[in-house]
Amino acid sequence: MITLKSPREIETMRRGGKITARVLGELMQAAKPGVTTMHLDEIAERRIRELGAIPTFKGYHGFTASICASVNEEVVHGIPGKRTLHDGDLLSIDIGATFEGFVTDSAVTVPVGEISEEARRLMTVTQECLMLGIAQMQVGGHVGDIGAAVAAHAEKHGYGVVRELVGHGVGTAMHEEPQVPNYGVAGTGMEFRPGLVLAIEPMITGGDHRVRTLKDGWTVVTADGKLAAHFEHTIAVTEDGPKILTLREIGEHPDVDRYRPAAETGAAA
Ligand code: MG
Ligand code: MG
Repeated sequence: MITLKSPREIETMRRGGKITARVLGELMQAAKPGVTTMHLDEIAERRIRELGAIPTFKGYHGFTASICASVNEEVVHGIPGKRTLHDGDLLSIDIGATFEGFVTDSAVTVPVGEISEEARRLMTVTQECLMLGIAQMQVGGHVGDIGAAVAAHAEKHGYGVVRELVGHGVGTAMHEEPQVPNYGVAGTGMEFRPGLVLAIEPMITGGDHRVRTLKDGWTVVTADGKLAAHFEHTIAVTEDGPKILTLREIGEHPDVDRYRPAAETGAAA
């Protein structure tokens, strides 16, 4: 079942999205060589609660932390722990916060210290994939338009598009219908209507698209050990176009102004 959100509910999600975005921005700045992923998780939980929300991931299907921290060949769902970040690591941070009953979900890949040119290119292209996917969220368009746009851009650069994990509807539950694959055929799938809120999240690999899950039952890694990147926003379809509910003040894509209604300006929080 697809749940469309009222303008008032979208406004609540926008307020919650600001919390998610703000904490994620703080984590991006804290992700330095020598820091453990567990430390980032502690910051995340404390800041989400201070700002009046609840860490959505904690306890979700038994997940023990407030963020996912996935390093290098880890694609998503890395469990924060004693691992220390090193200069040159590529870190993906995924975060969810529940505010007044509504979830917002967002992720970024960030460089730890100085990263290789190869890693930077993968990171940049993945962020571009997200923005291209968001641009498809126009009334009358279709869910398949997102995957088609994401995959075309990734594959143009010789990258893999993860198949096993997909974006999703988001609202009072973190994972609602519809599923939003990062591949597909334009013009197919559910038609976009105002009030549809999606979490779009391209997971792009530096080599083959295949992944496997580690023995911890969570961490998804590339099967060939190549790097992966992951960017995600929570976005509402509106009559004025897509509205990103998890826009950050820092580390946002330079093209982001193309994806927010003209009435809005500047800062996200
Ligand atoms: Mg997420
Ligand atoms: Mg998600």
